[in-house]
Amino acid sequence: MAVAHDGETLAWYDREAKVYASRRTAGLSPHLEIFLGRLKPGAGILELGCGGGQDAEVMIAAGFDVTPTDGSAGLAAEAERRLGRAVRLMRFEELDETGRYDAVWANACLLHAPEAALPDILGRIWRALKSGGLFFASFKGGDGGDRDVFGRYYNFPSREGLEAAYAAAGSWSDLSMTEAPGGGYDGLPRNWILCFAVKGR
Ligand code: SAM
Repeated sequence: MAVAHDGETLAWYDREAKVYASRRTAGLSPHLEIFLGRLKPGAGILELGCGGGQDAEVMIAAGFDVTPTDGSAGLAAEAERRLGRAVRLMRFEELDETGRYDAVWANACLLHAPEAALPDILGRIWRALKSGGLFFASFKGGDGGDRDVFGRYYNFPSREGLEAAYAAAGSWSDLSMTEAPGGGYDGLPRNWILCFAVKGR
C-alpha cells in the first residue's frame, strides 16, 4: 500500500504556519478567475490544501459555497482566523464523499502527495465531484519525487505521468494541461502544470 502523505512536509507547514499564511494577500489569480468563470453562481466548491485561506476568501466573497480544508492543523487554524469560519482538518487521502461538490479547487497542494498515492487521491476527488463537476489542480513539473531546501516533498510529475494518474482515477470528459513558468516559496523558477478536468457524465 502506497504511503498516503508525507509527514515531514505537513510538519513543516505546521511549524511555519504563521509566516507561511501571511506570505500573500488574497487576490484573483488568472487560473482562479477561469475556474470561477466556469461555475454557476453559488456552486459548491471543495478546496483542498487551502493554506492560509486566501483563495477561499476570494471564492466566498464571490458568493460560492466553499468548504475549505487543509492537512496541517497550524494552517487550518490560520485559515479559520482569516475566514472567520470552520476549516476542516483533512488530508487528501481522508476525502471520502460521493457526488457532493460542483467543483474541487486544489491549487499548489496535490504536488505534495506521494507519487504512488496520486491515482488514489485523484480517484477520491473524482468520486467527491458531481457528474460534470470541475476540478483544478496545479503541479510543479519534473521527472519524479524530490525534496526542496525546506525538506518539503514534491512529486514533480512529468505531463505524461500526470495524464496516466488522471486516467487511472476515473473518466474525465475534458482534461486540459497547460504548462507555464512560475516560482515558489523556495525562490526557484519552475515549470508549472495547470490542470482543468471535468468529471465525465
Ligand atoms: N493552496 C494554498 C495556496 O495556493 O496558497 C496553499 C498551497 S501550499 C504550497 C500547500 C498546502 O497543502 C499547505 O497548506 C499544506 O498544509 C497542504 N498539504 C500538504 N500536504 C497535504 C496533505 N497530504 N493533505 C492535505 N493538505 C496537505
